[in-house]
Amino acid sequence: MTETADVWGDAGRFHLPDERWDCAACEMAWPCRTTRDELSGDTGMRRALVEQAMRGYLQDALVARPDLPARELADRHLGWIADHESAAGSTPHTP
Ligand SMILES: [Zn+2]
Repeated sequence: MTETADVWGDAGRFHLPDERWDCAACEMAWPCRTTRDELSGDTGMRRALVEQAMRGYLQDALVARPDLPARELADRHLGWIADHESAAGSTPHTP
């Protein structure tokens, strides 16, 4: 089943990493923007749980993409969580 619907209007699609650890739905490097928004938004999980989940995904990513630097993968999975927390409350979110 292949869908070519608008990536940004597709709440029903699953933004999960594919075998190259790109998003299977929007083809961004995973976790993609949609995934980050879903995990950190009002309907998402608490930051500690997000970080715990991302550390698990990071382990999988290190196995899936041994060609990528571990530091880059770690920053991709964990860096945005800190960014999200520091941005919350003080600075309004700008797209
Ligand atoms: Zn995605």
